[in-house]
Order: sequence, then C-alpha cells, then structure tokens
Amino acid sequence: MNMMNMDFKRKLPIPMEVKEMYPLTGDLSDIVEKRTAELKSIFEGKSSKLVLIIGPCSADNEDSVVDYITRLVPVQERVADKLLIVPRVYTNKPRTTGDGYKGLVHQPDPTASPDLFKGIIATRELHMRAVRETGFICADEMLYPENYKYLDDILGYTAVGARSVENQQHRLTASAAGCPAGMKNPTSGDLTVMMNAIMAAQHEHDFIYRGWEGHSYGNPHAHAILRGYVNRQGVTHPNYHYETLLYLAELYAKWDLANPALIVDCNHSNSGKNPFEQPRVLKEVLHSCRHSSDLKQLVKGFMVESYIEDGNQPVGGGIYGKSITDACLGWEKSERLIYEVADLL
Ligand code: PEP
Ligand code: MN
Repeated sequence: MNMMNMDFKRKLPIPMEVKEMYPLTGDLSDIVEKRTAELKSIFEGKSSKLVLIIGPCSADNEDSVVDYITRLVPVQERVADKLLIVPRVYTNKPRTTGDGYKGLVHQPDPTASPDLFKGIIATRELHMRAVRETGFICADEMLYPENYKYLDDILGYTAVGARSVENQQHRLTASAAGCPAGMKNPTSGDLTVMMNAIMAAQHEHDFIYRGWEGHSYGNPHAHAILRGYVNRQGVTHPNYHYETLLYLAELYAKWDLANPALIVDCNHSNSGKNPFEQPRVLKEVLHSCRHSSDLKQLVKGFMVESYIEDGNQPVGGGIYGKSITDACLGWEKSERLIYEVADLL
C-alpha cells in the first residue's frame, strides 16, 4: 500500500485553542498595536528612524532569551529617537540538510526529543513574556506557514527565510500577515525571486490555510531583506555593497510595489558567517546611504545576530546565552554597536 510512512502521534490544539489558554490581555495587545504602528510608519517612510532587528539566531532557552531582551530595554530608551529595536525571537529554525536542532517549537529542550505540543505552547509563552516584561514586540521566522497563526496577534515582524522565499504557501501566508514581512533573497542570490515574493505577498489571494478556504488582503509592508548568497561552489558572497543596493533601488523603481524598503541582514552570507564582521557591514551600508539619497530612502534598517556570549557552541554545550545555531555577536560588542549606530545617524 502507498500510505504515508508516518505516525500521526496526536492531534494538536488549533491556534484558537492555544490563544484561549494563553490570551493576549488588553494591555499587551495595546503595546503590540502601538509598537506595530510605529514600525509600519518606518516602512512607509513616515518616520526617519531605522529598525534594528537584533537577537540570537535561535531562541533556544527562555531564560537567556528574556535576559538578553531585558538588557535591550535601557539601550532602546537611550536610542529611542533614532532606532526602533525589534528583538529576534526565532523559534522555528530552518536547517540546511533538515537535520539538527529545529528550534523551540520542535524542541523546547534542545537536548531532549522533539515535543511539538510543548513547543507550540513554549513559543507562545516566550513571545508573550517578551512583550509583558520588556514592552518589545519581536520578530520570528515564518518557517512553517501554518504555525504563523499561533502568534499572529503578538508578532511585530515576520521574515520568510532564504530557503522558503520561493515557496507559494509562504508567499500567500505573508500576504495575510498583519505585521511587516521581510522576504529574504534566496541562498542562490537571485534578486528576481525575492521581488516576485514581495509582489506575491503584497497582493490578495485565495488559498487553503489550516483547513480553511481563505482570502488574504495583501500585505503592503512586505519588503526585501538582503542576506548575501552562496555560489555554485558553495562560497559565500555578500550583497550589501553600494552597487547591489543601487541595483535593488532600480529594481524597485521598475516594479509596482508599495513601500519600497530594505533590511540588510548583516550576518549569514553577508558576514561570511563571521559574526564579528557585522558591525563593519552595518557601518558600510550607513556610509553608502550617505552617498545616495535613493539608498537613504530605501534602507529601513538592519538585522543583526547577537546574544549574550560571542560565537556559538554545539547543542548541549551548556554555556548560558551562547548560540547553538549561527555564531552571534556577544552582548558587550552588540551594545557598543547600537550606541555607535545611533551616533552615526
Ligand atoms: C536566520 O535568520 O537565522 C536564517 C536562517 O536566515 P536565512 O534564511 O537567511 O538563512
Ligand atoms: Mn541565523
């Protein structure tokens, strides 16, 4: 028989049930609404602040992630007139080969077996705790589009990753997201794929979502994220240099899209996976913006992978606040970077 070779282990609660168990109270939803409006006004060009999406590659541990975000609170206060900080709370992790730690949603304990039920709850609790204790709204990756609905009332920002951006379901789900959605360039670097994804996410669609026939209204805040790329030989190449950014501005001018906007991801293939290059990448882009008013308008902010400790460690390495996925910039260097950026603006 050709049945699926898969155990259906248990039925999971639907997003409405999880939201009933962990409802967003009125004061929290006010914070989400107010901060999301501020974030959107940056993407609309109504505010000249820049967005800084900063935090660990993966939100592997609730305590160290909340500790990290809590450290950002006084920093945000000091740079509030220049930067809007959106912490990265990445709970769904894409893996290049599919193997390895797949994020909090799969493994609330990275050293234990997967537990998707606990993972869904842990993900919602962590995002709620971040808003409640710090007043930040956070960013997460839309890796499994059906998981988006567990968090749609809390998230401030969603990113469609380099490995997902060509996928129809991701694009259509991004078209329904109520927060800004960053569409990354694919790992191959083809910018047309990214532009197609932004177009798809800005348009209305009819599609199947979580067993429903649905209609999305389009997301005018869908925009580009450049994250560098990998060539046919597997060598990483940056795409944050002046010429590439100007080329993106030209592409945007040819496409009929709302709110042309770019977030530069300073890590991944833009840093050659060396997190200590991130400050240089970011400052180079700011320098490019000083040379071109088109770029100054286009660049709306940056993504930085940052955690309490520098670098990374294997799963189970046991060092508090050190990444178990991509290597990150540690806290001291990150804090210094944020103040330096604010001074440059
Ligand atoms: C990430 O942001 O950690 C990530 C996986 O990014 P990308 O999709 O660009 O590889
Ligand atoms: Mn990463």
